Amino acid sequence: MLNRRSFLLGCGVTATGLLGSGASAQAAEPDVRACRPADPLQALLQGNARFAAAWQASDAASTAENRAEAMAGLWQDNCYLPPSTLQDAQAPWASVLCCADSRVSPEWIFDAVPSDLFVIRSAGNTAFKEAIASLEYAVSVLKTPLILVMGHSRCGAITAARSNAPLTPLLDELVAPIRANRMPGQTLDAAIRANARHTAEQLTQRSALLADAVASAQLSIHSAYFDIGTGTVSMI
Ligand SMILES: [Zn+2]
Repeated sequence: MLNRRSFLLGCGVTATGLLGSGASAQAAEPDVRACRPADPLQALLQGNARFAAAWQASDAASTAENRAEAMAGLWQDNCYLPPSTLQDAQAPWASVLCCADSRVSPEWIFDAVPSDLFVIRSAGNTAFKEAIASLEYAVSVLKTPLILVMGHSRCGAITAARSNAPLTPLLDELVAPIRANRMPGQTLDAAIRANARHTAEQLTQRSALLADAVASAQLSIHSAYFDIGTGTVSMI
């Protein structure tokens, strides 16, 4: 299996100092895992509660300046690692697979900082093979303990998948799993939730590595729904 050292060396980067080899010169450096929370899912939800409060306060503000003020309280309660540590290593504590929609930025939504989240985004957050491969890397090399698949309200990709309007061949391919799971009479909101659940299920069905990690309790996979209006994430 690909490990951290072989990956780094394969990229032409020296692994010296990154592996906790015990060399005294490295002893004083912060541990890249120092900011990992004990309960990553809880940490995501707590970060989202901070974001949602700021988001809703900004909605109540009457000017752009006041909205900026409302959002300025974010990124105040985070655990920050020095960039000099992060330039050599990362230890994200959650992976997020979500839509490319401009209103769905995970670092905002979860009040997270660089090195917290390993993020994969594409229109409609489907389980396309490059996404699964990226998650395999996050789990096997970076030891990320949680994957969250997150759909969102008013998703344009799901809307496009549900319509009969012609798409480009590549878009057709991207939304194929959404179309395959269409149910008669299903609302847009139900389709968005069903797609997030289906994507989460696909991860272990299509990746033996992810299935093994779940079976050995090294990984948990969840699906969630982000409501743009309120800023809240709810588990599905
Ligand atoms: Zn979307």
